[in-house]
Amino acid sequence: MSRLPYLTTRLQGFGTTIFAEMTALANQHGAVNLGQGFPDFEGPAEVKEAAIEAMRAGHNQYCPGHGIPALRAAIAEHQKRFYDLDYDPEREVTVFTGATEAIASSLLAVCEAGDEVVLFEPFYDSYRAAVAMAGASPRVIPLRDPDFSYDPALLDLSIGPKTRVLVLNSPHNPTGKVFSKAELEHIARLCIEHDVLVLSDEVYEHLTFGEPHVPIATLPGMKDRTITISSAGKTFSFTGWKIGWACAGEDVTRAIRTSHQFVTFCNGTPFQHAIAHALRMGDDFFEGFRGEYQVRRDKLCAGLRDVGFTVLEPAGTYFACVDIRTLGFDDDRTLCRLLPEKVGVAAIPNSAFYLDPRRGNHLVRFAFCKTDPVLDEGIARLRKNIGNLKASA
Ligand code: PMP
Ligand code: GLN
Repeated sequence: MSRLPYLTTRLQGFGTTIFAEMTALANQHGAVNLGQGFPDFEGPAEVKEAAIEAMRAGHNQYCPGHGIPALRAAIAEHQKRFYDLDYDPEREVTVFTGATEAIASSLLAVCEAGDEVVLFEPFYDSYRAAVAMAGASPRVIPLRDPDFSYDPALLDLSIGPKTRVLVLNSPHNPTGKVFSKAELEHIARLCIEHDVLVLSDEVYEHLTFGEPHVPIATLPGMKDRTITISSAGKTFSFTGWKIGWACAGEDVTRAIRTSHQFVTFCNGTPFQHAIAHALRMGDDFFEGFRGEYQVRRDKLCAGLRDVGFTVLEPAGTYFACVDIRTLGFDDDRTLCRLLPEKVGVAAIPNSAFYLDPRRGNHLVRFAFCKTDPVLDEGIARLRKNIGNLKASA
């Protein structure tokens, strides 16, 4: 691959994100965008009104760097209400510019150059870039399809004196895997044994379709070594507001606030007021949210199966992965680059989430954070047009 001028060695090869590339292709061809994970519907009206109200009330200047007190209090209440976790909003809760900045600022804060960061592969694309920006190296543990389990012996061998952080993402993007209690206990035991921090990306915490979400911070000995990250983008369907947060022990919080203040300092003052309101909505909101997504998941999975794909049904998130080999395709990128034009649908090639793309090039991810007519149209186009592609691919 050619070297990009000006770009530091640490970021050579990262190119444009797969989400930007596939959304641009979807727009160019008028395709139904089942690629990038953003809802095509609005979040709760009362939350939007709370943001407008906050702007009208003059909350339009910088806020405290670690977040407005009302939002930090609401985040702490949310962790107590859903998981019985106690965080001090003054000293243990920090607001960031989305989960993305929380991840990057956290890794920048805690990694020394040369440290190793353990990632389960496939991994959300920003992890590897953030590890690189921090001057650390990734160490990957494959999640093996179709059940996306990992080899416990390999994890045992991969955590050692050079390991600084293990990144956990459950529910997991792109696979939809929800880590089992036994897996979380294994990970926790190793991290305690080797004094490793856990960065736990829980942005899909309210999107599980079977067992409820278990934050790894609830396991004995884990709260003070875990940075639990979440975001308003997924739970309240306002991905453009970029309000995220991290809960961590006091010492870790002090560290991550140090980098955060020089990365963005603060973000989205009126939106912070609105999300403080959102986090306090009743159980009916959270139950309705999960229920609606379960219906969308079932619709998309049934549709994809009907088209002929092998569907790896997700236990959480708003993504479903399919094995494309059952339809005779063998390269996810080739397929995803043709889909928008030839079929009228956009999806994400899973190899973008692998250190070695060959390990994931038989999988493609479809998003179901879309309204019924859009899901119906996407499925109908796939059913009608996928044959064109078999002929031309
Ligand atoms: N982590 C995961 C696993 C994601 O899927 C995403 C994308 N929503 C993010 C982090 C980034 O979240 P945000 O938009 O809040 O930065
Ligand atoms: N998290 C979204 C996804 O997985 C994409 C966010 C982005 O475009 N960076 O599709």
